[in-house]
Amino acid sequence: KTFAELGLREELVKACDRLGWKNPSKIQAEALPYALEGKDVIGLAQTGSGKTGAFALPILQALLTYVYDSEPKKGRRPDPAFFACVLSPTRELAIQIAEQFEALGSNISLRCDVLVGGLDRMQQAIALGKRPHVIVATPGRLWDHLSDTKGFSLKTLKYLVLDEVDRLLNEDFEKSLNQILEEIPRDRKTFLFSATMTKKVRKLQRACLRNPVKIEA
Ligand code: AMP
Repeated sequence: KTFAELGLREELVKACDRLGWKNPSKIQAEALPYALEGKDVIGLAQTGSGKTGAFALPILQALLTYVYDSEPKKGRRPDPAFFACVLSPTRELAIQIAEQFEALGSNISLRCDVLVGGLDRMQQAIALGKRPHVIVATPGRLWDHLSDTKGFSLKTLKYLVLDEVDRLLNEDFEKSLNQILEEIPRDRKTFLFSATMTKKVRKLQRACLRNPVKIEA
């Protein structure tokens, strides 16, 4: 099936086209029908499989639906801030994920922000003031901002992505991860991606996902 046949909105089909994505990758073809339907998804997939598209496209579709299907107030459409958050184990991966969001969201005025260690915190706090739709973060720095940056919370979050979870759990992130999970609404969708399914991953899955569908690349 093509992206359009999987039910993606035209704006997103065009964005895929512009990126040269002719057809969905295997993980995308398997994840999109469930993710677009609003189900939680566990994806067993490596980098290179197209897993970023598998979670970014359904999130962007939900964002579009939210914007266009809500009743305009005083003639204005809602501009949902902090709609989705992606947690990544490394700064490099976070930056790559954000680049894909930005490329896929370039024709829908998407605002996406990266919150990672090693970059200026004050600048990140200022960027948060512009109320991005999507945040891609490493857990430590995200927790710093959640506990410290005035006016920033994830109470409006609709989508959470836990990416490369086997690595997220290996790297000392457990404490900030648990603190973050307590700060975000339970009533949200969650996508979990991991290269392997370990005991720890399964434990996190049970804590974070509701009736998930499991797919493999
Ligand atoms: P990822 O596994 O998400 O890190 O993606 C790996 C690479 O595949 C990235 O450079 C993407 O731009 C590219 N990619 C993702 N989906 C597709 C697709 N459906 N067709 C062609 N390339 C893709």
